[in-house]
Amino acid sequence: MEEGSDIQKELNPLENAMRQFDEAAAALKLDRGIIEIIKNFRRATIVNLPIQMDDGTFKVFTGYRVQHSISRGPGKGGIRFHQDVTLEEVQALAAWMTWKCAVVNIPFGGAKGGIAVDPSKLSRGELERLTRRYTADLADIFGPESDVPAPDVNTNEQTMAWIMDTYSMHARHTVTSVVTGKPLVLGGSEGRREATGRGVLFTIRRATAKIGMDLKKCRAVVQGFGNVGSVSADLLQKDGARVIGVSDVRGAITSEAGLDVPALIEHVKKTGSVVGFAGSRPIDAGKLLELDCEILIPAALENQITQSNAPNIRARIIAEGANGPTTPDADVILQEKGIVVIPDILANSGGVTVSYFEWAQNRMGIYWQEDEVNQRLEGMMNRAFDDVYAVHTESKVSMRVAAFMLAIKRVVDVMHIRGVYA
Ligand code: NAD
Repeated sequence: MEEGSDIQKELNPLENAMRQFDEAAAALKLDRGIIEIIKNFRRATIVNLPIQMDDGTFKVFTGYRVQHSISRGPGKGGIRFHQDVTLEEVQALAAWMTWKCAVVNIPFGGAKGGIAVDPSKLSRGELERLTRRYTADLADIFGPESDVPAPDVNTNEQTMAWIMDTYSMHARHTVTSVVTGKPLVLGGSEGRREATGRGVLFTIRRATAKIGMDLKKCRAVVQGFGNVGSVSADLLQKDGARVIGVSDVRGAITSEAGLDVPALIEHVKKTGSVVGFAGSRPIDAGKLLELDCEILIPAALENQITQSNAPNIRARIIAEGANGPTTPDADVILQEKGIVVIPDILANSGGVTVSYFEWAQNRMGIYWQEDEVNQRLEGMMNRAFDDVYAVHTESKVSMRVAAFMLAIKRVVDVMHIRGVYA
């Protein structure tokens, strides 16, 4: 019983986000009152969304939007469609967005949203109605100056287009900057689709250079083959690394000789999964993370690296494409093993950075070429990596604690200047 509840606790993303915050706040020696103000979310909204299904029946889905902080700018964060979405999970993801935007130093606070739904069970029309109803019910909360959503797990450019259109219908004029991750023809940014994976690559390049590893001699394993995982794998291979294992929700595959990632992307387009890819062999999904490799990229969901499998992980570098893939208990083990963890709030911040570029381009009405977007992204990610690395070496803390310390300090500095309105 006790063991069961300990495991439950280890796997609670909100507990984990709070533990990560507490460790960094303690290292910064923050005042208790300040902690009270910045640790908890600002506002959480729950909406029940009645939808008429294609067969004429009605179903009610529960949706959430949490704004963790608006100290540094509008709330910013994706919307997740997944059957396991809970308020606690959304709270954790919203808090991580605050720290992520601060680490990469863009003028946003943190927010997140989600609907508890398995989108694979809904038709396109049902998904559109659900997305539009969610947007309409939250129309007073969203806005270019207040709260700007983006894609997350199981949401994409089409979802963002529906959000933009619904919000615009209510506003009575087209408002592109209310949401990012839009299709290019609706004010999306060049490079946004690849931005999170590209950012993962930039941080890996920096980390391998710091520890004297040659990326061309590295073997990489990627868990999750959606937006973040597939792009990370593709770009890593283009940089010369050998991708020896990948997985998705249906299973895991491996090839010692290396997988041909562009061909694998085509295979996924045709079949819907990495499973069955020619030249690969299936392996147990749990064992994928334990493969002998230099670089491991968890790019699926939270709580994939726990105290149960952390002792078996053999990678030298873990770059967290997903949000919250490593539990704090596992972090301790990885640190003892000398594994370099590039924390989520740094490693996957490329997505929100190009979302910021998209929002800025929408507001200027001027659009950049992909090269310019990628160059700006590289500059910001390298600066963020170096800022975190400096705290890591000066304060002798892990890269994760360093990233949190840097982010929390940036939020506290702004809070002091703004003051607390009462
Ligand atoms: P996605 O929906 O495009 O892809 C998710 C992938 O994970 C799919 O391949 C799915 O099959 C796989 N998956 C799901 N459950 C799995 C499991 N148990 N084992 C193995 N694979 C599994 O989502 P995404 O946008 O790539 O997001 C992935 C992660 O990255 C999430 O944690 C998300 O919050 C984070 N993230 C995304 C972005 C972004 O810009 N999309 C930015 C920052 C962080």
